[in-house]
Amino acid sequence: QSLVWNDPEVENFPGFPEGVTGPDLMDKMRKQAERWGATLHTEDVERVDFSVRPFVIESSERVVKAHSVILATGATAKRLKIPSEETFWSRGISACAICDGPSPIFKGEELAVVGGGDTATEEALYLTKYGKHVHLLVRGEKMKASKEMRNRVVANKQITTHYNTECYDAFGNAKGFLSGLNLRDTKTGETSKLAVKGMFYGIGHSPNSGFFSQYVECDDLGYVVIKDGGAGTSVPGVFSAGDLHDTEWMQAITAAGSGCMAAISAERYLGTEGLLVERDAVDAGAGAGAAMTPKRKRAAAVKEVGHRLGGSPTAVGVGGVVPVAAAAASPSPVAVKKPKKTGTFKGKKNTLGSSGVGVGVGVDVCSPATTTDDSVFTFTFSSPPGAGFAASASAILGCASGASVVFAFTFLGPSGSSPSFCARIASSSFGNR
Ligand SMILES: Cc1cc2nc3c(=O)[nH]c(=O)nc-3n(C[C@H](O)[C@H](O)[C@H](O)COP(=O)(O)OP(=O)(O)OC[C@H]3O[C@@H](n4cnc5c(N)ncnc54)[C@H](O)[C@@H]3O)c2cc1C
Repeated sequence: QSLVWNDPEVENFPGFPEGVTGPDLMDKMRKQAERWGATLHTEDVERVDFSVRPFVIESSERVVKAHSVILATGATAKRLKIPSEETFWSRGISACAICDGPSPIFKGEELAVVGGGDTATEEALYLTKYGKHVHLLVRGEKMKASKEMRNRVVANKQITTHYNTECYDAFGNAKGFLSGLNLRDTKTGETSKLAVKGMFYGIGHSPNSGFFSQYVECDDLGYVVIKDGGAGTSVPGVFSAGDLHDTEWMQAITAAGSGCMAAISAERYLGTEGLLVERDAVDAGAGAGAAMTPKRKRAAAVKEVGHRLGGSPTAVGVGGVVPVAAAAASPSPVAVKKPKKTGTFKGKKNTLGSSGVGVGVGVDVCSPATTTDDSVFTFTFSSPPGAGFAASASAILGCASGASVVFAFTFLGPSGSSPSFCARIASSSFGNR
């Protein structure tokens, strides 16, 4: 999210040789997660209860219960909040030297770093690769950084350290970019100006752990304490990912990597505890206990079927007109066989092809809890005149009380065609749809 709000060019995320903007990268990640059944809610979690099982997660909009939780709320870079900070943000002022330092606007320029700890000294050393000279602005009379870092800074001729110095504002050029800083001596109060094209905050981050820190062990600064170098926290079943526990690397790729560790850890935990529930047996797309509306159940079921069949998970409306992507070129029906549960399909074809486009329709079931051979759903397929589409319904993939019954359809049609069709559930013995 830092990448969305700050809108930086991300040049160091693998797979994007030309670079990618933060919002574009986030959008691609979101779509990829949704393609695999994730349901995203853009709202703040206000309260959690990790003392009960399943865990309770509350936002302003909903209450979700989950057997496992991954915390990934990140850390917010601290800012000085000088009056003109917003004016020059991303136009000379930045909170990430590693990310923004290589930008052409800083190349060969005078730069400043605010702070005297390990982060600031590391940033100052790093920026000497790009800037002409780096000014380290330290508020106190000595640096708080480790001895090794202090020595490296002092030994570097490209860095000047200004002690007892604070920045109280900044000014810019006619193009609206930063061109200098207003400084004040913290001992004498004397003010001065320093001409720089870049100012980088190296004054730390605040981890966003406040709303759960009563349950999960955090260090003195609020960072989540990780067990065994993995993703586990002090609460079994609660995992952490990204900047929330990472005080060292703090990059998008390292956050993504630790997100992967957390996801695999959560799955292993659920498996070990016997809590892993296959998505086609229950509702896909939400944690256990989540309030699943019929609409969401259908949407999740439809996506699941689309993925299973390798087709594009098209939004399918029961009884609505469904756009279907072009069928595979020259589809050849293979393994023609009757589905085990035939049901009643009007204009029945029963042709299960290996190619074509897979879509699905989900139906919510309240009762009975099990299917029987005579649980009949009647589907009517129609396609525009001349489209020449053949449709077939395949398996019932899941049917438990309160779950979705999912029918998968494979459509075989002429090469290159892109017709619409209508799938209507005309009747069902469940009487609930
Ligand atoms: C200006 C800037 C430029 C950067 N450029 C780069 C770069 O070029 N390359 C690079 O690799 N890294 C870059 N980074 C670092 C990178 O953005 C982070 O390391 C990475 O985003 C961390 O990911 P995360 O998922 O841990 O946290 P974040 O991306 O910060 O995501 C945390 C999310 O949790 C949400 N959240 C917090 N509290 C709650 C709550 N109570 N309820 C619900 N949601 C909540 C936040 O809104 C946010 O969406 C940059 C950072 C900044 C600030």
